[in-house]
Amino acid sequence: MNNGSMRAVGVIPGRREVALLQHAMPRVSGPTELKVRTLDVGICGTDREICSFAYGTPPDGSDYLVLGHEALGEVVETGPGVTKFKTGDLVVPTVRRPCPHDHCPSCRDARQDFCFTGDFTERGIKMTHGFMTEYFVEDQAHLNIVPRALRDVAVLVEPLTVAEKALAQVWQVQQRLPWNNGSSGLRGAGKTAVVLGAGPVGILGAMALLVNGFKTYVYSRSAEPNPKAALVNSIGAKYISSATTSLADFAREVGTIDLVYEALGVAKISFEVMKVLGLNGVFVFTGIPPHKPAIPVEADSLMRQVVLMNQAIIGTVNADRPAFETAIRDLGTFQERWPDSLSKIITGRHPMENYRELLLGKAAGIKNVITVAQ
Ligand SMILES: [Zn+2]
Ligand SMILES: [Zn+2]
Repeated sequence: MNNGSMRAVGVIPGRREVALLQHAMPRVSGPTELKVRTLDVGICGTDREICSFAYGTPPDGSDYLVLGHEALGEVVETGPGVTKFKTGDLVVPTVRRPCPHDHCPSCRDARQDFCFTGDFTERGIKMTHGFMTEYFVEDQAHLNIVPRALRDVAVLVEPLTVAEKALAQVWQVQQRLPWNNGSSGLRGAGKTAVVLGAGPVGILGAMALLVNGFKTYVYSRSAEPNPKAALVNSIGAKYISSATTSLADFAREVGTIDLVYEALGVAKISFEVMKVLGLNGVFVFTGIPPHKPAIPVEADSLMRQVVLMNQAIIGTVNADRPAFETAIRDLGTFQERWPDSLSKIITGRHPMENYRELLLGKAAGIKNVITVAQ
């Protein structure tokens, strides 16, 4: 092991370059910090967008940003004040770090996912280096223990937190409807959910909806047969292609829609599907579309509908610690229920040297992972 520096994949925005870099080996410097050996790092659309220089800001004083925010690692060193972790533990880090302002009540309450000032940082995205490197140091407040049994799939925890935070908000909003809780004890029992998009966030979201009892449909573009559709159908959700099924036919087949979980990042189809959201329904946006020319939306009829049907439209970003804990628990449930389907979400494992095709090449497969260490 080289004590001076280690390999990292990062962007150099000033030169518009994506590169394999030498990055300083981090050291435990605070009592509650841990050093973690990176095992797996997932790649997603956010990383690819940072590599197109749409956003992504290096830390102050650095001309590069180490990428990677979806990570699994193993604790190799603990500070003297670390109470919750020991060497050898598997851990998944959260992504967002709080802003420094005393007047930000959410950050002061460890809820930086709801930061009021915008001065938060995010590892691998905004002003803090990410995990696409051999080791990282992190405070215990930002790490979550993962059971050994989830070693091969725990890199999916972070993308699953998108659904977990979304669902936590859906439960809160729907407390306005205290009458129709399912008799099975599952909060989605007797209700219907639609997932838009069949990428990793969509498929993991469909799994989370199913374990909460929802009848779950996934509406996505690609015509069947295709591997994502097969995966969706294998878990007991139903895949419907927007290329071969019109919105009207889709709505007829699905019936009353209680929840739409958008995981696509495309406004046109999202606002189309909003038109068929049911009475007292919730529509959750999680996708971030790129800036594009304006499109027509039937705004008056949508506004009428949202009011007259008591609908809630929610946007959600990032995730808090409880969402990570729920994601880890649910991933265990997914592994018991659908071991083959869950492992099929990871369609490629690559060495760090493949970073270029993974980040800049044509998107392929479902979830690609960089295996930093075994
Ligand atoms: Zn991501
Ligand atoms: Zn804040």
